Amino acid sequence: MPEVHARLSASGSKKWLNCPGSIQMEETFQDNSSLFAKEGTTAHALGEAKIKLALNQYNRVKYHNAIKNLEITEDMEEYTEDYKDFVIEIFNAAKGKTSDSLIYIEKMLDFSLWVPDGFGTGDVVIVGDGTLEIIDLKYGNGVRVSAENNSQMRLYALGAINAFDYLYDIKQIRMTIYQPRMDNISTETISIAKLIAWGEEVREKAAIANDDKVTECIAGDHCDSGFCRARAVCRSYAEKRQKLAVYDFKRPAKLSVEEIADIIDQADKISKWVKTVNDYALDQALNHGVEIPGFKLVEGRSNRKYAKDESEIVAHLKSLGYQEDDIYTRSLKTISNMEKLLGKKTFNDVLGDYVVKPQGKPTLVHINDKRPAINSVNQATEDFKDITNKGE
Ligand code: SF4
Repeated sequence: MPEVHARLSASGSKKWLNCPGSIQMEETFQDNSSLFAKEGTTAHALGEAKIKLALNQYNRVKYHNAIKNLEITEDMEEYTEDYKDFVIEIFNAAKGKTSDSLIYIEKMLDFSLWVPDGFGTGDVVIVGDGTLEIIDLKYGNGVRVSAENNSQMRLYALGAINAFDYLYDIKQIRMTIYQPRMDNISTETISIAKLIAWGEEVREKAAIANDDKVTECIAGDHCDSGFCRARAVCRSYAEKRQKLAVYDFKRPAKLSVEEIADIIDQADKISKWVKTVNDYALDQALNHGVEIPGFKLVEGRSNRKYAKDESEIVAHLKSLGYQEDDIYTRSLKTISNMEKLLGKKTFNDVLGDYVVKPQGKPTLVHINDKRPAINSVNQATEDFKDITNKGE
């Protein structure tokens, strides 16, 4: 669930646990994350309503009222239906073991015993003897989220222990990320003892991150995966990105394949970083009157466009005797637009046999990319001979 933010938020914990200075650094930038979270918020609201309907916490009228103003796509309808089924299945399994198991939807979880003013909202919390379950719906489809060592989930788990440990004999917590658009269900199970020990480490780090006298910034993977808002101005991040400069290009000695791999890896990160700095500089110059030495603001290049509404242009041309065939170009909708129009299931039923996915050209990607590697040079050459020929 998109959170109402605490200063040391669970969703931002990967940053402040690894970079104590990030709290202060980010506070100087506006948090625009909620602007991009609309789709996720809608999916959460729909998922919540579906679960409550299935649990008889909502009748049909309440359900209708809860979803009537949501902009729901057909895909979202299907994904949240699957999410609801998943949650109900877990709850039924819990009831099979402990008949008085409880389920909470959108449960506020207070983990302030470990993190100053720390709280967050658990999408689903299921409590029974032995195991406490936390399920978090992630509606994004950009980055696959793992539940393993996931500090956001573990902070929610601490909040859940804080709320329910006195009621039930909980021995372990199972935390699940449900990310339907990436076909990803990731789970971590952790004992109470291990969770509490982790919480003690967090307590120390949280106190440091919350101390305004601490300004140390430590760059790492968390800068990008946590979408740190300070990346455009952070020196630690800049130094990490400029690691490429350590290569002594003046000497023409042949680079090793390891160095070449490092350069490709760094170049991608550097180009993203340069764009971040560029966007920041533009915003400073345009909206805050800051002069960037050696640069000036100019109008960007633009293309011609019709100055009036399409219907007016068409009426004008027709009045001059032009026919529809002269005015319009007819073309088949793209696959994505056709799928949007028909819905995923109907699209597959109706057009499944009419769609092919050609083999892509060989591309060098990071080892973590989920596509399978092409292992054999000869095999790759055979497989892609046709494609390469056609592409020439
Ligand atoms: S960019 Fe990275 S190092 Fe810099 S403040 Fe953000 S999290 Fe810390």
